[in-house]
Amino acid sequence: MTSSLAVDDGLHDDGTSGFLPGEITRGWARVAAALPARVGEREFETWLRALAPGACDGDELTLTLPSPFLRDWVRGHHGDLIESLVRAEMPGVARVIFGVAPRPGGAISGTRPAVAVASEAAIVQAAPSPQQAAAIRSVTNDLAAPLDERYTFDSFVVGKPNEFAYACARRVAERPSSPGFNPLFLYGGVGLGKTHLMHAIGGELTRSGRVSVAYMSAEKFMYRFIAAIRSQSTMEFKEQLRSVDVLMIDDLQFLIGKESTQEEFFHTFNALVDAGKQIVVSSDKSPSDLSGIEDRLRTRLGCGMVADVHATTFELRMAILSAKANSAQVSVPPKVMEFLAHKITTNVRELEGALNRLIARAKLVGAPISIETVPEVLHDILRAHDRRLTIEEIQKRVAEHFHIRLTEMTSQRRARAVARPRQVAMYLAKQLTGRSLPEIGRRFGDRDHTTVMHAVTRVQQLMETDATFAEDVELLRRMLES
Ligand code: ADP
Ligand code: MG
Repeated sequence: MTSSLAVDDGLHDDGTSGFLPGEITRGWARVAAALPARVGEREFETWLRALAPGACDGDELTLTLPSPFLRDWVRGHHGDLIESLVRAEMPGVARVIFGVAPRPGGAISGTRPAVAVASEAAIVQAAPSPQQAAAIRSVTNDLAAPLDERYTFDSFVVGKPNEFAYACARRVAERPSSPGFNPLFLYGGVGLGKTHLMHAIGGELTRSGRVSVAYMSAEKFMYRFIAAIRSQSTMEFKEQLRSVDVLMIDDLQFLIGKESTQEEFFHTFNALVDAGKQIVVSSDKSPSDLSGIEDRLRTRLGCGMVADVHATTFELRMAILSAKANSAQVSVPPKVMEFLAHKITTNVRELEGALNRLIARAKLVGAPISIETVPEVLHDILRAHDRRLTIEEIQKRVAEHFHIRLTEMTSQRRARAVARPRQVAMYLAKQLTGRSLPEIGRRFGDRDHTTVMHAVTRVQQLMETDATFAEDVELLRRMLES
């Protein structure tokens, strides 16, 4: 086990690793240098600073942390990111394993008290930082998931689409179990800040130190419930649940169709509300749209405060980007932010991810972020968000442009006044949609693919000889692409 702490020496001698002396150290140094930009300086200092490379066995690299608690946290919150960075920076490593090992040099065995972490056979317990201690406190009865320190009310950017949900969340954090606000039901699309608000409520209440908070995903709830059944400890599970002051269940839609778990949740829910405890629930659907959730549960869920987190607006996305750039202390040109806010419209997490990538990249190459580098750095994200242009949209726009009826796009009329626009639409469909010639033909009134081919060549010829026509087509193309 101690050999797993050997960083540089001996690793390559066992014949199992293809790494040369120093390679692991250097590779890991690159990963560690890239991490703060990806997770934030504070997160890095709080949780990731203690990460150390251990043994490399074949293509499997072990990374160690000083306690099981830290290991679980880091694996759960940043495992995927760390693995992808390791893969990128240390070719030859295919998998990362997180282990526990005392810090080299016994630096942690000083005078600070150790913290016992539930039921794990810890090798050495590192003393937690204040932030870690707060996270541990929130793990009520070893029941709930830790709260993410970054998700606070302060770091939540408020705009029209989310101001109501925000106000409700604040209100619950200030005065839990107020009549009319229990349960608080937050709903809205993916990546719009529901989990963020729940953690903010939990964090605020935990810091106040007056109440015990349990936050968990509905999936975790179910998993715990099933585990309790298996180990015949459902009574204990129920008692634990019912002992908290505030219970927050995230992504309730996960319980759709899971009847016995719903039943259990329903009873817990009733017991807690009857005892004057606060419930906060999130879901991607409103209570009335949660088909597959029992009627009586849906009714109860909807009888407190139901707050919809709406899709973001351009203004809100700009505000979020500038807040994130500010807190990362990076200057991001407004043009870049506008570009991102236009392109990535549905999910704040992806918006954030794109910005983080630009920031990380700029730091890596030591150059400021500029609009020129955006497409290169974000090509995969942008491609996924490129609006899928349909043949119908093209037909509609072209028909409007040439003042002909939409039905002419599929009609058999061959008069020039309708045949030419139809050809232009076929040409644009070929250029902009990636559909095959036969498919395009089918959508234009069941025409043959040779007709489409002919239209494409004809339009190209005309564009070369007729400047006005070429301008027209270009204008249409730009309109469709924007
Ligand atoms: P949901 O739970 O609704 O799917 P999350 O709460 O996980 O969404 O949000 C996804 C990411 O976007 C998080 O990192 C969160 O901090 C961020 N985010 C979402 N909305 C906002 C906002 N209004 N202000 C700041 N960050 C936000
Ligand atoms: Mg969520």
